[in-house]
Formats: sequence, structure tokens, C-alpha cells
Amino acid sequence: MFRPEYSLQHATAAGEDARRERRLEHIRGLKLNVVSETDLEWDRARRAWNLAANQRPRHVAFPETADDVVKLVTFAGGEGLRVAPQGTGHGAGALGAIEDAVLMRPSRMRDIAIDPGQRRARVGAGVTWGEVQAAAAAHGLAGLAGTSPEIGVVGYTLGGGLGWLARRYGLACNGVLAIDVVTADGLLLRVDREHEPDLFWALRGGGGSFGIVTALEFALYPVRELYAGALFWPQERAAEILHAWQAWTAGVPDSVTSVGRLLNLPSLPKVSEGLRGRSFVLIEAACLATEGEGVELLRPLRERGPEIDTFAMLPPTGLGALHMDPVDPVPVSIDGWLLADLPSTAIDALVEAAGPESGSPLVSVELRHLGGALLDAAPEHGALASLDARFATATISLVPNADMAAAVERHSAVVRAALAPWEAERNYPNFAERSFSVSDFHSPATCERLGRVKAQYDPRDLIRSTHPIPTT
Ligand SMILES: Cc1cc2nc3c(=O)[nH]c(=O)nc-3n(C[C@H](O)[C@H](O)[C@H](O)COP(=O)(O)OP(=O)(O)OC[C@H]3O[C@@H](n4cnc5c(N)ncnc54)[C@H](O)[C@@H]3O)c2cc1C
Repeated sequence: MFRPEYSLQHATAAGEDARRERRLEHIRGLKLNVVSETDLEWDRARRAWNLAANQRPRHVAFPETADDVVKLVTFAGGEGLRVAPQGTGHGAGALGAIEDAVLMRPSRMRDIAIDPGQRRARVGAGVTWGEVQAAAAAHGLAGLAGTSPEIGVVGYTLGGGLGWLARRYGLACNGVLAIDVVTADGLLLRVDREHEPDLFWALRGGGGSFGIVTALEFALYPVRELYAGALFWPQERAAEILHAWQAWTAGVPDSVTSVGRLLNLPSLPKVSEGLRGRSFVLIEAACLATEGEGVELLRPLRERGPEIDTFAMLPPTGLGALHMDPVDPVPVSIDGWLLADLPSTAIDALVEAAGPESGSPLVSVELRHLGGALLDAAPEHGALASLDARFATATISLVPNADMAAAVERHSAVVRAALAPWEAERNYPNFAERSFSVSDFHSPATCERLGRVKAQYDPRDLIRSTHPIPTT
């Protein structure tokens, strides 16, 4: 039987297939290491570290050099596609849909050069913090890494960068010295304080909206060893321990960065046997101190008789295991915000919302002590010049299915509401996974300036980033 609609559709589909095939041949001819939906490696190529993000970009590209990135940007622009750079996908939960974009994965751009004399590092866009810390430690130096060694240096730094040395040395973004970046019009620029200063300013804490970073240069700090570890108590003692920690933070020097934490460890084989399925209240800390000084600093907390005590002198590489972040890709939900203050009533509210009697499905609810160098908004700093808050909160949970995701979403909202009276005016980009507007992170003047930089360097909004900056 003659069915004209069918024939027409079929012909159109065949034409579309042929056109798609021609386009793919063209891309392959550019030698950009592109993977597309019909390729066997597609699922692995598009997968983010956060498995909860089911990313479906148009293509995935694995450039090896900055020149490859220039070609990629030119190609994407010509095809009417956007480019979404992604190092590891730890921040993929905040990225959203990327159907109209080429996902750029710099996992083959892994050069690391350490200049011990100048105390600086230069790393390719695909380098993770664990790799930098290992290379720097050989010279008695450390970078401003976060808690997980698996996180990408570039994504973490563009969004601020809050780590174990933060109260002494500030946010990682403000230790950046130079950036190699490919702009939306396909130019490879090296930006620093003297060259393209507005772009340099915007990239340091304003996120990845302004270009594709191919290499980053940043300061390293002399840290051969530090006194660091965690104290664990059964979670039934949450109120007592968190009150004691809060009082303790008021007196510690900037050389101490610490976290108070409620932890519900899952019953998974990967969790060590004594901890599996148990709930704890923890104090974790990194002290730039000798062992004797560290023991003295920790005394008021240790006197409360922790069940587990892991404090010891460690090289900076040892900090990567301290927070027990998951290493392999997992489906997670993250939320986080800043607190202007943390009085005793806030601790009580937190324990009620997430403590032992709360039925909380959240794996971890943490309070990070801020202050110190984080408050210093020096004029030479970038867009996120300081964190004007006393504590940061972050929640993280496994979300293997939709029911669990819904339960986690509901309980995160309960925790957030409980701490709402003390929430700071602004949020911290790296911990914010729900969709936020730029004004949640920055002052009106900074938003205005970021918008102008976006308009100058990417007026057609080719770069697809987390927490995108609208043009002004
Ligand atoms: C387990 C865990 C622990 C964490 N701990 C901390 C912590 O201690 N401190 C902290 O501050 N944050 C922390 N974070 C948040 C983390 O810093 C952010 O998710 C950050 O965005 C991760 O960077 P990434 O490159 O690994 O992630 P990606 O998802 O690869 O990148 C995030 C975004 O950065 C931008 N970006 C990445 N690469 C480039 C590039 N080459 N050019 C331009 N833009 C780029 C893009 O907008 C991208 O969407 C943690 C997150 C997780 C999941």
C-alpha cells in the first residue's frame, strides 16, 4: 500500500542521517577526538563523576592541546553549538541540560610543572588536586586543595576553592597568578594582572562563563607536614560535641581550619567494617602546627573522650583522605550555603533537624569554620574576593534512585529551614547545586562587572557553564 507520509518521513530521516554522518566525518577530520551518540564509547564519554547527572550533550570532545580547544570552539560556533567545559563532573549537578553543547573534557591535558623557587604551579585543565599535591609535596609545598583529591583544579578554583588551608591562605581563586584561556571567538589568551585584567578578575571566583581555561598557574605554600585528623563520637553526643567545637573555634588561630560534622555512614562494602552503617558526630581539623602545638590545640576536644582519634603529623597529600569523600563516581545530591553566625541556638536547631533523632537520610551535614584570611577582600583579589560569613554548611547524600533523591531533597530543605535565621546574605558558588542567580553569590557591583566581562568576551553566550553569568 502506498503511504506517502511514511516515505516522506523516511526520506527526511535518511537525509538527516547522511547529513549527520557528513558532519561527524568533518569533526573527525579536525582530529578533535570527538565521541558521538553512535560511538561505542558514548556512555562512558558523557558520564560525569556525579552519576545523578544524566548528561546528554550533542558530542563529547577530548582535546589534547590548547590549539585543539581553539579548533573546537571555532567548530562549535560554526555549527550553532555551545561548548560546556567539564573537568571531572563533580559539579555536574549544577550544570543542567547541555543538549545544545559539545561537552569538552580536558582529561588528556594533564601537564603539571612545579617551580619550587617561585613557589608556583602550572597545570593543564584536566589535572586533579591529588596530582598537584603529590607533585608539590616533593618540594615541601602545597596548593589550596579542597577536601577531595579527585576534584578538578580548574572547576574548583573558578568557583572559589575552599580547602584545608583556607583560614591561613584564603580561597584558591585568589592565589591564581595567570590563566591560559580560549575565548568564545577562538582566541587563546594568557591573562594575568597586566594582561586582560578584567577577564583575569572575572575568572577568579566568577566561574567558567567567560572562556575555556586550558591551563592555570597559581601560588604554592610552604607546608611540609601538618597536624591533622578527625575525632569521632557516637552521634548521640552531637549536641554536646558541636557546642564544644563551636566554642573552641572562637579561640583557635588562623592556622587551624576545622569542620564539625554529622555523618551517617552507609552500609556499603566500601565503608570500613567498624564504621559501616554507623552514625557519628565528628570534628575534623588541619593545623599548620608541630605535633606538640597540635596536641595542645586539640586538648579541649580530646578531653571529651572520642571513640576514634586519627590525628597525626601528615604530609599535605594525607589531607586527601581526611574528609572521606567518595573517590569513584557516585550519584550524589549536594547543597550548601553560608552562615553569618553560629550561636548556640543554631547548633540546637541543626541537631534537631539532622541529628540522631531526626531520621535524616543525609550522609553528611557539615559546618566549616571560615574567617581568618577568607575575610580579607584585598584589592588585587578576583570576583570572589572574600567569604563574608563565619561558617559554611554543606550537605551531601547518595541518591541511587528517585525515591531517595526526593527524600534527600525534602530533608535538605528541613536542614536549610532550621538554619535560615543565621543564613548569610550571599552563597558560596562551589557548594550551590540548586539553580541560583549570580546575585546570590556576588554584590550588585560585582554582578554588574561580571555581566560586562561576559558581554565583552562571550556576547553570544557560546560557553555553557555552571551558574551562568548573564550579559549586562
Ligand atoms: C565530593 C565533593 C567534595 C567537594 N569538596 C569541596 C571543597 O572542599 N571545597 C570546595 O570549594 N568545593 C568542593 N566541592 C565542590 C567542587 O569544588 C565543585 O563541584 C567544582 O565545580 C568541581 O570542579 P570540577 O572541575 O571537578 O567539576 P566539573 O563539574 O568538571 O566543573 C564544574 C564547572 O567548572 C567549570 N569548568 C570546569 N573546567 C573548566 C575549564 N577548563 N574551563 C572553564 N570552565 C571550567 C564549568 O563551568 C563546569 O561546569 C566538592 C564537591 C564534591 C562532589
